[in-house]
Amino acid sequence: MGMDFNLTAEQQELVAMVRRLARERIAPRAAAIDEEAQYPEDIFQAYKEAGLLGVAIPEAYGGAGMGTLGLCLAVEQVAQYCCASGLMLLLTKLPLMPIMLGGTEEQKRHYAGGIASGALRGAFCLSEPDAGSDAASLRTRAVRHGDRWVITGTKNWISGAGQADFFTVAAQTEPGAGARGIVMFLIDKGTPGLTIGKKERKMGVRGVPVHQVILEDVEVPESAMLGQPGGQGFKVVMGTLNSVRPVVAARGLGLAEGSIQAALDYGRQRQTFGKPILEHQGLQWMLADLAARLEGARLLTYRAAMEVDQGHIGKADAWKLSVAKLTATDLAAQAATDCLQILGANGYMQDYPMERHYRDVKQLQIVEGTSQIQKNIIGRALLEGDLHW
Ligand SMILES: Cc1cc2nc3c(=O)[nH]c(=O)nc-3n(C[C@H](O)[C@H](O)[C@H](O)COP(=O)(O)OP(=O)(O)OC[C@H]3O[C@@H](n4cnc5c(N)ncnc54)[C@H](O)[C@@H]3O)c2cc1C
Repeated sequence: MGMDFNLTAEQQELVAMVRRLARERIAPRAAAIDEEAQYPEDIFQAYKEAGLLGVAIPEAYGGAGMGTLGLCLAVEQVAQYCCASGLMLLLTKLPLMPIMLGGTEEQKRHYAGGIASGALRGAFCLSEPDAGSDAASLRTRAVRHGDRWVITGTKNWISGAGQADFFTVAAQTEPGAGARGIVMFLIDKGTPGLTIGKKERKMGVRGVPVHQVILEDVEVPESAMLGQPGGQGFKVVMGTLNSVRPVVAARGLGLAEGSIQAALDYGRQRQTFGKPILEHQGLQWMLADLAARLEGARLLTYRAAMEVDQGHIGKADAWKLSVAKLTATDLAAQAATDCLQILGANGYMQDYPMERHYRDVKQLQIVEGTSQIQKNIIGRALLEGDLHW
C-alpha cells in the first residue's frame, strides 16, 4: 500500500455528508431504535436518498464506486450514534459478496444494482445451530437432482433475514468432504420451502433483528450455485468473511468514538472533589489510552479496507483483515467499559447512550469470526511466515 494517510477530497466529502446525516437523522432516533427492536425503515430510506446503499458498489453496477474504504468511512460515522444503523450499511456488502465473487455477470448486475438502488436487500446465511466458528462442519445439505439442487437445513442468527429479498446460503454438497464440499447458493425470497423463523430476543444491535432461516427441500437451478465444490465454493465463503472484516472493524471505530465523546461531554461537566471529573488524572489517562489505541485501530482498519479494494482477500492476506477486526472491536469493547465507568451511575441508565453502546459492542467480538478466531488466523499466518518486518 502507498503511505498516503490523507483521505481524497471525495472521501472527505463522503465523511462530511454522512456525519451530517448521522447527526440529523440517526442520533435522534438511536435510543428509540434500540427500545423498539424493529428494523428502522426511515433510516433505510435516508440511506437510499443519500445514495449510501451503493457506496461500495462499482459504478458499472449503479453504485458510487467508493469501495470498502468508502463503506468503512460511512459506517464509522453512523456507528458513533447507532451500531445497528452501521450494520444496516454493512448488509449492503455481506450478502452480496458471494455473488460478486462467484456469480454470473447477469447476477452481479441484477443484485448489485438492486442493492445500490434500494430495490433489494439480502441476508448472508452461514451459521447454524451447531456450526458457528467451525463453518466447515455445517450440515445444511444440497443434493443434485438433474440440473437442479435441493437444499435442506437450518441457519441461525441471520441478520436482516426479515427484510431480505434474497439469501446467500452455504450448504454441503458432499457429506464428509468438509470445506471442499461447501458451496453458496443464491435463493430468492418466496422460493418454496424457504421460511423465516422467529425473531430472536437479543442483547444489543436491536434495530437489526436476527432470525432463523429454515430451508425445507428448497429447489434452485444450477445457476444459483456461486462457485464450484472442490474448494472454490469455500473460497467464496472465506473471501466474503475476509472482505467484510474491515467493515465490522469500522463499526468498532464508530462505537469507540461515540463512547469517548459521551465520556468527554459528561466528564467535562460532572464535578467531584471540587473539579470536573476529567481533571482527575486517572480518568484522563483512561481516555488517553483509548484515544491512542483508537488512532492505531483506525489506521489498521483503513489499511485493511484498502487491501480488500485491491482484491487482497485470500488466505495470504487474511491476517491483515483479522488484525483490523480484532484490534478495532476489542478496543471498542474496552471503550464501552471504560466510558460507561466515567459516567458512573448515569452510564448505567438508559437516559445516556453508554448503556446501549455497552450492550451493542459485544456483538462485534462475535460476528465475522470471533476474537479468538481472528487470533487463530493471525497465529497461523505468523507460523507460516506470512508476516514480514
Ligand atoms: C447479533 C448476531 C448476528 C449474527 N448475524 C449473522 C448472520 O447474518 N449470518 C450468519 O451466518 N451468522 C451470523 N451470526 C453468527 C455468528 O457468525 C456466530 O455467532 C459466530 O461465527 C460464532 O459462532 P458460535 O456463536 O456458534 O460460537 P462457537 O463457534 O460455538 O464458539 C464458542 C466460543 O468458542 C470459541 N472458539 C471456537 N473455536 C475456537 C478455536 N478453534 N480456538 C479458540 N476458541 C474457539 C469462540 O471464539 C467462542 O468464544 C450472528 C451472531 C450474532 C450474535
